Amino acid sequence: MVSRTIPVDPFDLVIFGGTGDLARRKILPSLYRRHVGGQMPAEARIIGAARGEMSDDDFRAFTREAIEEFVPATKRDAKTLEEFLETLRYVRVDAVGQDGWTDLRAVVRPDVIRAFYFSVAPSLFGALAERLHEHGIADADSRIVVEKPFGKDLKTARELNAVLAEHFTEQQIYRIDHYLGKETVQNLMAVRFANILFEPLWKTEYIDHVQITVAETVGVNGRGAYYDKSGAMRDMVQNHLMQLLCLIAMEPPYHFDPDAVRDEKLKVIRALEPVAPEDIVRGQYRAGGGRPGYLEDAENPESRTESYIALKVGIANWRWKGTPFYLRTGKRLKARTSEIAITFRQPPHSIFDHPEGWRENVLVIRLQPNEGMNMMVMIKEPGPGGMRLAQVPLDMSFAEALGEGGADIPDAYERLIMDVIRGNQTLFMRGDEVEAAWAWADPIIQGWEARGDRPHSYEPGTSGPEDALMLLHRDGRRWRDIRE
Ligand code: NAP
Repeated sequence: MVSRTIPVDPFDLVIFGGTGDLARRKILPSLYRRHVGGQMPAEARIIGAARGEMSDDDFRAFTREAIEEFVPATKRDAKTLEEFLETLRYVRVDAVGQDGWTDLRAVVRPDVIRAFYFSVAPSLFGALAERLHEHGIADADSRIVVEKPFGKDLKTARELNAVLAEHFTEQQIYRIDHYLGKETVQNLMAVRFANILFEPLWKTEYIDHVQITVAETVGVNGRGAYYDKSGAMRDMVQNHLMQLLCLIAMEPPYHFDPDAVRDEKLKVIRALEPVAPEDIVRGQYRAGGGRPGYLEDAENPESRTESYIALKVGIANWRWKGTPFYLRTGKRLKARTSEIAITFRQPPHSIFDHPEGWRENVLVIRLQPNEGMNMMVMIKEPGPGGMRLAQVPLDMSFAEALGEGGADIPDAYERLIMDVIRGNQTLFMRGDEVEAAWAWADPIIQGWEARGDRPHSYEPGTSGPEDALMLLHRDGRRWRDIRE
């Protein structure tokens, strides 16, 4: 199967913070890959904006280095790289001052789609929004892209939404959660809603429980002091894991349309039950393997911030009451992997006398590495010797199944930036969704702060704290192994 790529309309994309880490590692390499993929129109222009003194050529040299570092050699070539670099400009702009805004206005074209990527600290969002209007650079059709963290609690998220709403409508605001840009995440919707097979079983009568795991092998290296103000609940659960949970749990939207999808996700978040203290396990990695422990990385020996969290979450609606969702995420774990596993219930009656080897059906959705899906089903073990059962995977690995087109799965940022240009908000979080997610997370965080709970320490390179195992054991269940 060959992938089809339709070029988007001509656009100017201004990246505020165009010389920062995110631009270097993700935004600029993703744009180049879309150029190679034939999706960038010849008239596209990418404008880096930051306070540093730089010429267009300096910014091109910076971008060339970023692409050489972050795009594999097999995915780039001199010709397309030169073409792409030609589309770049740089303007020196200070978000909080008046410097550079007239220059920016002169560079941005009024007759093409205008998008502004706020790849700067959230404290600058208000100033940027205001300046863009004051100088007549943004109009009613312009889009802005904002990054996580979107607030650190409900209050700050509301403040950020209010600041942006002063100058932009909700239809102009694209809140990025890059998990939503992953191929598998969208495939989850295709599998659920384009097949008759799963949806009739997609409810508590047939689904025993759901596990969502996002495991990292890295620690908080180098940004410990910053991370220490956040922790796994704020950094991962409130946004990424919550979005995955929503896509599993939501009702079929009436149409694959941005607001229809986001309305259904919002209903799920609002139906989340409060989480009891005994259903939360938090942890901090210890020193090991020659690397410091969390407390040292965070430069705070008294820190109570978690680098690991596991939660048992209930959804109070007809479809899900009685099916727990177990969420876990952490740093310095044994493997880097993200997956969703949906475990079905046992058949009501076994016709086999000796059902050894019997296991539940599990649908595993892998987000990384090797995006794909696996359906674990029972078959008869081949050969003579009676009816012995064995569990085998029905592997739906996209790269293999879809051949040429599937092997080159675009990075989440590639898809999301192109969606901004296309004006499609389906894979972006709406303001009310973000606020609802904080409204659920806030009391959980306030609860452990008020109780003075301390995270358990865990051995690096393991599956996390021992107590997290108990979270499932006491329900007669087990976590899936964390492995690549
Ligand atoms: P960074 O490396 O610190 O870069 C910040 C950028 O903003 C630089 O280009 C900086 O250039 C520019 N800048 C700072 N103050 C400015 C001002 N007053 N006016 C105009 N430009 C200004 O930060 P980052 O890691 O790229 O992160 C950017 C945003 O993305 C943050 O909100 C972050 O939370 C979010 N994010 C980052 C990552 C990541 O992987 N890095 C992941 C998720 C979310 P000058 O100093 O020259 O102005």
